Amino acid sequence: MPSGMRAFARSQRIEPTKKLILVVIDGLTPSMFEAAVADRAAPTLAFLAAHGRYRRAVSAFPSLTPVCLSSLVTGSLPDVHEIPHLVWWNRAEQRLVEYGSSFGAVRAAGTRRSLQDTVYELNATHLGQRAVTVYEALEEAGLTTAAVNITCYRGRTAHRPTVPVLTRPAYGPKRFFFYNLFESDVTGAPLAVRNRPAGTIDAYAEAVGRWLVTRDGFDFLVFYLSDYDYASHAQGPDAAHEALARCDAAVGSLVSAAGGEEDFLERYAVVVCADHGQTPVAEVARLGEHVATGRVTGSNRAGMVYLDGEARPVAEGLDGAPGVDVVLFREGDEAVARRDGEELRFERAAEGWATSGDASILDQPNALERSWAALANPNAGELIVSAAAGWEFADLAGRHHAGGGSHGSLLAGDSEVPMLTVGVDAELASITDVMPAALAHFDVTAPAYARPLARA
Ligand SMILES: [Zn+2]
Repeated sequence: MPSGMRAFARSQRIEPTKKLILVVIDGLTPSMFEAAVADRAAPTLAFLAAHGRYRRAVSAFPSLTPVCLSSLVTGSLPDVHEIPHLVWWNRAEQRLVEYGSSFGAVRAAGTRRSLQDTVYELNATHLGQRAVTVYEALEEAGLTTAAVNITCYRGRTAHRPTVPVLTRPAYGPKRFFFYNLFESDVTGAPLAVRNRPAGTIDAYAEAVGRWLVTRDGFDFLVFYLSDYDYASHAQGPDAAHEALARCDAAVGSLVSAAGGEEDFLERYAVVVCADHGQTPVAEVARLGEHVATGRVTGSNRAGMVYLDGEARPVAEGLDGAPGVDVVLFREGDEAVARRDGEELRFERAAEGWATSGDASILDQPNALERSWAALANPNAGELIVSAAAGWEFADLAGRHHAGGGSHGSLLAGDSEVPMLTVGVDAELASITDVMPAALAHFDVTAPAYARPLARA
């Protein structure tokens, strides 16, 4: 908070603003969160829920981690933050960008290239210049921000890599910890990438988080736990109970580092949410087999087609194709959502949306706005495909999660997330509300693109 504002707070004897912790549990569904809180299988989350307010919120589309974390951190949909998918065609450089659909897909795209894209380029060049990150906005206002493991980290402080395979600095928040590759402080946290199924990445995050809370080393902290999504892909949604118990224990570590429950709530306001949901998948489609022209990027439950020519014939060619639910494309000033030959045309109107056609094609949560924003992303394909329930699109290496869980589509199960707030005075109906709410918490003005916050 700017020093003038602190003085104001003191002179008015207003309680000083609490510091804020954002906990992101990757891939956690609302139903799993709600059950674990109700039966106290997650005692720390249950404790926070007892002192806060809970609702379900909507994610971005495609409901995939790089897209959704960028929405959380910038308070925008992909039309502004410009991260389109897990895998996409970079038109300017005429090459694929693959952020890590699977080890096989990373190898297929070139392991070194993929590492560079995920570690550096996502933030340095792919993330839209119009987008403002929560770290940039809060540090501009004189606050100290911290991020642990989150892949959307753009900030103004240069951090030198800790391993020789990486050769240039990354620009992140003042306190920056990224899988042992960048560490702004020596914390003694164990190596992150030892045994992913056993939860070593989150164990690293937990150790760093404990260190930060013990030293009271931030005003705003993003505490990102990625292992839950990994477990849920393998076991299926609403089955990764052990992984959730580990997440709960990791948050519990922050609470005990603060001196216990009472001291923790005295010091911190908290937001706990996920980036996207997950749904069960049993069948796999190869999107490329049904597209005669263009470049196809499929992964999880979303796909894109990059075209030189007209989109409509390619969209029509996907009518009835296995695994395809909704196909989106632009036609003139309008957007078109197509499902098995039926269409809904839509465009922004003075208030809300002007639509014509079959409205049931986009009856998923906030689907008109999310589809429009996905198509308005300059890095997106001319065609965007949302997968049908139970289906996944094989990635570059043919990998998939059939028999487990996945996400990426417009459907509610992929797109709804748990949203718990403690000591935050705003109604967070979308993951894009989190960044503006964090700014409002510290009396910092939100970027003009952010939608107005509803007061709690
Ligand atoms: Zn995932």
